[in-house]
This record gives sequence, structure tokens and C-alpha cells, in this order.
Amino acid sequence: MIKLKLIKEIIKDNEEWGEGPGEIIEEIYRCPCGNGLVLYREEIVPDFFPMGKTHCGCKECKEKYSFDREKAIEQ
Ligand SMILES: [Zn+2]
Repeated sequence: MIKLKLIKEIIKDNEEWGEGPGEIIEEIYRCPCGNGLVLYREEIVPDFFPMGKTHCGCKECKEKYSFDREKAIEQ
């Protein structure tokens, strides 16, 4: 397991939901090989369980690892 290096964290208000103050969290990490980026996105909506998605933009690392937020797990 490799811990990814956080480059940037963005927190935005989620205005799509009229229910209350929701938030969108985006975190950008450097991929394990260093040539690409990994994006983690989570929408926080009141009364919903937060669900995050991790997307790896690096072809090589995408094949080698599975991603879970700030972690890369070797397949
Ligand atoms: Zn990579």
C-alpha cells in the first residue's frame, strides 16, 4: 500500500441540493509513479451517507493499483 501525496484540496458549496448546506470535496494527489494525478471527489449532502469516488488519470498506475482516496493498493 502506498500513501499518495496530496497536492491540492478544494472545498465547494453544493448548490444543487436545496435541502441544506452540502459540500463537494475534491482532493488532488500525485499518482505513485509521479507522472499523473489522482482525483478524489466526495459530495456531502445532509442526511445522505457520504460517498467518495477516486479516479486515477495515469494510465500506468491505473493498471497497477486500485485507489481508495489517499491510498494506492497494488493489485
Ligand atoms: Zn502514475
